[in-house]
Amino acid sequence: MTDQKTETRTFEADVSRLLHMMVHSVYSDRDVFLRELISNAADACEKLRFEAVSRPELLGDDAKPRITIAADPDNRELVVEDNGIGMSRDEMAEALGTIARSGTRAFMERVEAGKAAEDTQLIGQFGVGFYSAFMVADRVDVTSRQAGSDEAFRWSSDGKGTYEIAPVPLEAAPRRGTRVVLHLMEDASSYTTPYRLEGLAKSQSGHVPVPITLVEKPGAEPRDIADGTALWVRSKSEIKPEEYTDFYRSIAGQYDEPASTIHFRAEGRQEYSVLAFVPGSQPFDLFDQDRKGRMKLYVRRVFITDDADVLPRYLRFVRGLVDSADLPLNVSREMIQESPLLASIRKGVTNRILGDLAKLADNDAEAYAKIWENFGVVLKEGLYEDYERREQLLKLARFRSTASGEGWRSLADYVAAMKEGQKAIFFMAGDDRARLKASPQLEGFRARDIEVLLLTDPVDSFWVTMAPEFDGKPFKSVTQGAAELADVALPEDAAKPDAGTSSDVATFLAFVKTVLGEEVSDVKASDRLTESAVCLVAPEHGPDRQFERLLNAAGRLDKAAKPILEINPRHERVAALAKLGDDEKAFKEDAAHLLYDEARVLDGDKPADAKAFSARLARLIDRGLAKG
Ligand code: ADP
Ligand code: MG
Repeated sequence: MTDQKTETRTFEADVSRLLHMMVHSVYSDRDVFLRELISNAADACEKLRFEAVSRPELLGDDAKPRITIAADPDNRELVVEDNGIGMSRDEMAEALGTIARSGTRAFMERVEAGKAAEDTQLIGQFGVGFYSAFMVADRVDVTSRQAGSDEAFRWSSDGKGTYEIAPVPLEAAPRRGTRVVLHLMEDASSYTTPYRLEGLAKSQSGHVPVPITLVEKPGAEPRDIADGTALWVRSKSEIKPEEYTDFYRSIAGQYDEPASTIHFRAEGRQEYSVLAFVPGSQPFDLFDQDRKGRMKLYVRRVFITDDADVLPRYLRFVRGLVDSADLPLNVSREMIQESPLLASIRKGVTNRILGDLAKLADNDAEAYAKIWENFGVVLKEGLYEDYERREQLLKLARFRSTASGEGWRSLADYVAAMKEGQKAIFFMAGDDRARLKASPQLEGFRARDIEVLLLTDPVDSFWVTMAPEFDGKPFKSVTQGAAELADVALPEDAAKPDAGTSSDVATFLAFVKTVLGEEVSDVKASDRLTESAVCLVAPEHGPDRQFERLLNAAGRLDKAAKPILEINPRHERVAALAKLGDDEKAFKEDAAHLLYDEARVLDGDKPADAKAFSARLARLIDRGLAKG
């Protein structure tokens, strides 16, 4: 039987990398290992509490969950033990030899891709988890006996590439649960000092919902250092800010200060408590593919799952828990997910969180701006995913604009500053704010002092094309369709004599259109240009220029719409070209192509035909030289 022998296995490559990083980075805060081990012990107790609802026999005569920290200063050993669910042999190999979270891998790649110096400080911000034990220990032994099993196993490793798993006699294992023994490094011996351990456990983990006991040295009387009272059932007025922060850190695995704390109890048709936090910085898994939320679900203080979708995906940055008084305990996690009770909790909690954010935005714009900077991109996903709350989310949204400088504008600010005659909320989408600001398409707006939102997150193109309105005003791309600028008067000092409507220019535009043929869908006189000669815009219907680019990059564009070439009829060069006679036909043809290529380059694209472009440019230079 394979179960009976010692097995040596190699860590998954990612684990080795993580361990190496952890041990070799000058890690500023090794203390966190204790929080991680206590958090695992508490999770194990809570999993057991949940299993025992349907299988009470698992508890036996040892029903009360407990975490014990035991120090042995003489042998430089530290033990963290729990009477939780425990692990089987396979679970140990899986849980302590691999890395499950995709975000961890992405994070390591960032750290390794350079920038190590600043990013190692960030290590503390992602779930360092069990492996953080190797920051303070040169050998870790994990002995575990799964609830209900009559076998026990020991996992052991020095964290240098391999680990061993072997069966152990039951006398050498906890009666139930897991014992983690750290053989501390020389420079980590202070982690056996009782006051140090008590201080750390209380400050970092004082609010885990399992009592913690300390044994100061072998043979000493166990002493209770935390009572396992769930923080969220206490009344708000009794809780100190630092208690919230500690709890936030232990539940979120974040090491910063929460940007906002949401603590309330809902009463009435449904009864539940919520303790949730908006983190002070971006969690490392914010952009994981699965976009999983991290709210834990409890039922009457029994941890049920962190897989229930307690919040919509666009609130996945919120960390915390919901404790329901009404959900049944003894149903499967899958059924809970489908439960109408959960749906109504989700609705209540979502509304409350959005409501709190709105209040914060009103009362403390600066604090709210920080939240928006970290999580705005994620919140904006709600603009196309949550139709019902779009209005609410649009109110929460903040934007950069041609008028914002480095600050943020709300749509209410925008609407209040709209010019007389202006009917739409204008935006320009792209990936780079500096380039957007320099775009020719903005000229006519700038001349009329019309504010344009500069949308640089990829997600922007998605919601903005779903034709939302704000305050009855539609959103309109400045790179698409007619600019509708005629509705807004130019300031008097900017008004130029309108040279553009001469019949020469109209004839020239028709000529350009014939020359470019199928390359463009139309050639039009522009009212949005004031300084540049040309620009491209998308036809009135369909994606705007930026959205088309995104769709194309994603391979989702069946057929690119041909752009419209807009020509500035008031531009001197255009007026001069328009005056040339038929004897200059070849030159005018070159000019038509070059104007189109210029517009493409201004849009960040390449000339339509590189070879032809070079030939035309060469002819143009030669012509200039011949004249000079
Ligand atoms: P996380 O806690 O985020 O899952 P960790 O690295 O802290 O990541 O732990 C990895 C896994 O190891 C846990 O998910 C759990 O399955 C297992 N584990 C760790 N400690 C214990 C324990 N004391 N009891 C039971 N399982 C544990
Ligand atoms: Mg953990």
